[in-house]
Amino acid sequence: MRRVLILGGGFGGIAAAVGLRDRLEPADEVVLVERRPTFVMGLRKNWGLLDPGAIAAGERPYSLLAERGITVVQGGIDAIHPADRAADVDGRRLTGDALIVALGAEQDVDRIPGFREHVINVYDRNQSDRGRAAIAAFRGGRLLIGIFGTPYPCPPAPFELALLLRDRLAERGVDATLQVFSPLPMSLPILGQAGCSTFELGLELSGVEFLRERQATAVEPGAVVVGESRLSYDLLLGVPPHRVPRVVAASGLTDGGAWVKVDSRTLRTSFPGVYAIGDVTAVPLSNGQMLPKAGAFAQAEGEAVASRIADEFAGREPSATFAGEGTCFMETGGGTAAMVTGRFYADPPTVRLADPAPEHLAAKHAFEGDRLRAWFGR
Ligand SMILES: Cc1cc2nc3c(=O)[nH]c(=O)nc-3n(C[C@H](O)[C@H](O)[C@H](O)COP(=O)(O)OP(=O)(O)OC[C@H]3O[C@@H](n4cnc5c(N)ncnc54)[C@H](O)[C@@H]3O)c2cc1C
Repeated sequence: MRRVLILGGGFGGIAAAVGLRDRLEPADEVVLVERRPTFVMGLRKNWGLLDPGAIAAGERPYSLLAERGITVVQGGIDAIHPADRAADVDGRRLTGDALIVALGAEQDVDRIPGFREHVINVYDRNQSDRGRAAIAAFRGGRLLIGIFGTPYPCPPAPFELALLLRDRLAERGVDATLQVFSPLPMSLPILGQAGCSTFELGLELSGVEFLRERQATAVEPGAVVVGESRLSYDLLLGVPPHRVPRVVAASGLTDGGAWVKVDSRTLRTSFPGVYAIGDVTAVPLSNGQMLPKAGAFAQAEGEAVASRIADEFAGREPSATFAGEGTCFMETGGGTAAMVTGRFYADPPTVRLADPAPEHLAAKHAFEGDRLRAWFGR
């Protein structure tokens, strides 16, 4: 009997667990450690700010994974011991013949003084009720959406939120100035300069102003501090800075860097038998940028690693690799979504933004529904 220990039950961890369960011998054990009782995709966070019940409708209990033969351990990971392929979960040591670290990116809210007090954190699903109430109470003025640090998961999400809010406020007849600020010189760097110019023009025509190169240093009542200047707001929504989870940094897996370094195709770390997938990693691209943090990549990486581990256990030469390809959707309002498709490992990466269309919105819903059914059976 062999055991694979998977830390984190997000996109990557679930895809790896399901892939392994399908491939390994029945006697082999697939153990998934996750602190939360339910899974929900990040893409529901924007919906949750607009519609009550949107988060709950996409939630699935991890117990459904147990029904397909995955051992789910609900608990907090206190320490990781990569040299032993082990982790401490609520004080209990678990070990594996292989270890997959899929703990995502951790929010670093306290890096910006005042964020916790004054910003509605739109990446925290527990704040969706508060955010919805604040949006409902907003009667006009300056609505500011802030990107407080990079990298962050799903780069298009704050822009999507702005476009969805624009529709919602217009329906209510609310007169608002909608702005998105970012520390970066362009909105979605992976699109390149020309792609960003087109996208930013589209934002402007839609009534959303993009404020570039604004690194917030603090938040006060009514204003975000950006160095010597201030951005005023009547309602402030924000994406917090992110960092590698502290438990991962403490394990030595980052080797002094900001994120876990992996082989970009096999997802191997520097420790034998230890893989890292998804948002916890940083994968450099040929153009000097990093692979964006997205669930679609975490999933594809998880599937590749599952195949490789199954081959290794069976004494076969592993052949599966992560190709660095994927598609994401960004809602653009009016019942449409744009589609970003990329070959990120090409030199240079080729990334295309397809125009907003209703069928892309349908594809986004299918993206979620197909995966939930494949993983959880419903
Ligand atoms: C608003 C929004 C919209 C998005 N839209 C899309 C989209 O349309 N398409 C797309 O591909 N991606 C999208 N994303 C990005 C996507 O959600 C992430 O990139 C993806 O979740 C990363 O997967 P992961 O497995 O690496 O980490 P995660 O999904 O973050 O999973 C990590 C898991 O580890 C658990 N964990 C962490 N620390 C511990 C610990 N100490 N003990 C126990 N458990 C722990 C967490 O609870 C979590 O479940 C979106 C994100 C947001 C916020």
